[in-house]
Amino acid sequence: MGHVLDSSDISYTEHDQQIWDEELAEFLPSRIFDAHIHLFNKAHRSGDSGGWSNADLSTLNQWAAKLYPDREVHYLVLGTPLPGMDVAAHNAWATEQVQSDPQSRFNRLVTPDCKLDDIRRDVEQPGVIGLKPYRVYSVSGDIAQCRIHEFLPHEQLELANELGLWVTMHLSRFHGCADEANLADLTEFTTQRYPNIKWILAHCARSFTYWPIREAIDRLRDLPNIWYDVSAVTDIRPLITLFQRERVERIFYGSDGVDATYFHGQYVALGRSWQGLDISRFPLQFPHCDGRPILAIYEQLLSMKQAAELAGLSRDDVEAIFWRNAAAAFDVEF
Ligand SMILES: [Zn+2]
Repeated sequence: MGHVLDSSDISYTEHDQQIWDEELAEFLPSRIFDAHIHLFNKAHRSGDSGGWSNADLSTLNQWAAKLYPDREVHYLVLGTPLPGMDVAAHNAWATEQVQSDPQSRFNRLVTPDCKLDDIRRDVEQPGVIGLKPYRVYSVSGDIAQCRIHEFLPHEQLELANELGLWVTMHLSRFHGCADEANLADLTEFTTQRYPNIKWILAHCARSFTYWPIREAIDRLRDLPNIWYDVSAVTDIRPLITLFQRERVERIFYGSDGVDATYFHGQYVALGRSWQGLDISRFPLQFPHCDGRPILAIYEQLLSMKQAAELAGLSRDDVEAIFWRNAAAAFDVEF
């Protein structure tokens, strides 16, 4: 097994290199828009960093050069939604970072405590196009079973609707996109109450296993203003369903880098549940093979490649997922 460095270092083994050379180099187009990635600065969080490592825009670019050599890469950066964040300081710093690349964009971190005037001021900054709420800030106190309006309150939804903002939504509740309350909320919000909000349902509409997206896709497909990012989904099955049964124009590439996918391991489906498996945290043994774990982001890209083959996507479709859909949606010059 290759060396595993501290998570703050770029850890890239000979096995990662082999997967790039033999599988991914031919699959990834020349331009990549990563529509789900995070910046983090320990100075903006009280207490310890929760295992998150510092990542500014140059860190992301160094990783991109390693992960996708010779590709042009830009980002939709999402505010990093951890408890104890200094929301104002994080947003100000991340906005400045993202503005150093005119082709990258930022979704501002929002919590139910954020004031509407502050949100409005921030999203008027160049490059800031939307909001990043997260379930850990739910006013219900239940981060697993909360409804959308409990962590993105209606007054903020109204502002997002007025301004036509993007919202990257990591759905909560045990069944994710298959949850009846979530489906009812998304239906009401997109078709009646907030028709100008553009939703990006993160992680294949939070479908890390085969099940939620298979349950929900026929209803999601009929809703307006819904997009998806495929970040951190390493199981091939939800990707097959999404690629076969949604319009390619509504699918964005995303990585969820750095700490959520640039480790060796993957997100393992266990029936209808899933678990992150970071191989550095478990004493794994490989009695039947030469143990060769690879980066979770490469697991995701391998699954995307094979799902694209099974769904019969063309080179043009793949280029749309990795670049063109996002470039068009976010008004990126190309
Ligand atoms: Zn994320």
